[in-house]
Amino acid sequence: MKRLQERLQTIIGKGYKAYKQLQGSYQFENFRLTFDHIQGDPYALPSRISISIEEADHGLPQALRSTAIRQIALEDFLARAVSQAIGQYVKGQRGTGHSGQIRIATSGQQVLRRNAVLLDDSGLEARLLLALPADGRSVRVADAQEMLFDELPKIVEQALLYRGQDLTAHFLQVDQVEDQAWLRDWLQEVGGVAFVADNSLLPRRSGVDDRPLVQGVPFHSPASLRCQVVLPHRGGISGMLIPRGVTLIVGGGFHGKSTLLHALEMGVYNHLPADGRELVVTSSKAVKIRAEDHRAIHQVNISPFIGTLPGNRSTVCFSTENASGSTSQAANIIEALESGADCFLIDEDTSATNFMIRDPRMQQLVRPEQEPITPLLYRVRELYEQQGVSSIIVAGGSGDYLAVADRVILMDNYCPRDVSAQAARLAGEAPSLPRPGIAFSRKSRRLLDSARFNTHCADGKHRILVRSMRQIDFGPQQIDLSRVEQLVDVGQTEAVARLLDYAAQRYENHPAGLVGALRQAFEDVEEQGLDILHPWKVGHLAMPRFYELVAAANRLRTEAS
Ligand code: ADP
Ligand code: MG
Repeated sequence: MKRLQERLQTIIGKGYKAYKQLQGSYQFENFRLTFDHIQGDPYALPSRISISIEEADHGLPQALRSTAIRQIALEDFLARAVSQAIGQYVKGQRGTGHSGQIRIATSGQQVLRRNAVLLDDSGLEARLLLALPADGRSVRVADAQEMLFDELPKIVEQALLYRGQDLTAHFLQVDQVEDQAWLRDWLQEVGGVAFVADNSLLPRRSGVDDRPLVQGVPFHSPASLRCQVVLPHRGGISGMLIPRGVTLIVGGGFHGKSTLLHALEMGVYNHLPADGRELVVTSSKAVKIRAEDHRAIHQVNISPFIGTLPGNRSTVCFSTENASGSTSQAANIIEALESGADCFLIDEDTSATNFMIRDPRMQQLVRPEQEPITPLLYRVRELYEQQGVSSIIVAGGSGDYLAVADRVILMDNYCPRDVSAQAARLAGEAPSLPRPGIAFSRKSRRLLDSARFNTHCADGKHRILVRSMRQIDFGPQQIDLSRVEQLVDVGQTEAVARLLDYAAQRYENHPAGLVGALRQAFEDVEEQGLDILHPWKVGHLAMPRFYELVAAANRLRTEAS
């Protein structure tokens, strides 16, 4: 610490690049500060620092990280504690560019595995960004001193040192997250695909604010679908269990159908205490399926849904740079099957009508041989019975699906009612295929073509640039994730981009093709941690799901757009 103070004195009045002389590691009273990379430009991404604390100093008991999921929940908690302490103690902007800021990467309402705070038996490491202060392009040593010797120790003291301090909030989050993971495993055992606990709060404050709508109507399960379960920490709870099969959510407009489905989409993740969805869980293999017109499709067999197109164009190995609503939704289903999905979540609001239904009058007017599309209606039962893929479908506008549903949930003033029996009486006969169907397959013949997954740009450099949570520049290619709705954090996008490159470098010739190569890469990261994805020590990566990784690979757009 003294050495750092001395070094700072020697650079007074110098240019910003003089900060580079601070490179190295310094022992403070309770922690060690390391400058992992010092930025030479106050306008660029701030310098990367890490703080390491030995186990004896941080005082966090082993019980908080005794399982993998508890450890993830604890690391998440600590990163949020650091973020909160930053808000409390860091003065913020002083000088040019980012000068004076300190940051740590944290998630929104979800609890994700990240690499901002990492714990192991030897201790704890927190990775932060710290923008060393500048006056124009020169150093501001007095401000740097304030950041390093006043603010930083206060942050560490409050967020990362717990000798004798209260750990109630830590245990609350860790236990609750473990309960959610447990509930998801239990779901699998009892043959369910989703569970929504009574008193959950599903609506959000707004489309851009993912926190709970406090004055919302709490969830109340219908008696016929109610189920009791005893969680390891919280104890007994009750809620609505959605079994495997085909489930419809119906009801008038504005009665909460999409809100329920959206909560189920997010139920693949664990949530913070008091999120309102902390006891809403969905199968970890549930995938949202929607129309996504204009997406790129590369060599996908969409023939089970879309037959030969006008001009005798085959759809067995279909590629396009600009898909229609129905072909994109068909490709989304086939690709999700290939990646191992076990439940589709579908909302009429975001579906292509001609992919979902075709009514009898239209079938008389447009003959089967004139219509390449086989709507999902005709194949949704087969997907369940032969491929084991359940569906939860919001369908308020068409009664056709009543005939193929195992159960029907009516949303009435945000309150679910089981109307399965009534629906069965109205349903009529199950519709039969207008023409013989082409079988589904979970196998894809697509290979990982490393020429396609190439990060080499025209200027000779390798470049992977995450522009936003939903936009990746992958070398000269683009990946548009704007309608991959179960991606929730830009840190996941960063990891996805790196995983694609990692898979292309190592597993090009995987016997199971593209999906197999991505699976192998994904498992490497699960086992060895997010750090294997980056050449330098960084703290901004978050673990994606396998399905969103595959979704990104499938959306690679090779032509300049
Ligand atoms: P639908 O899909 O049935 O048309 P939405 O799910 O879009 O309806 O919900 C309509 C509106 O009602 C949204 O603004 C949503 O935030 C709100 N909402 C949904 N569920 C609840 C609830 N449980 N309590 C209060 N407001 C809700
Ligand atoms: Mg809706």
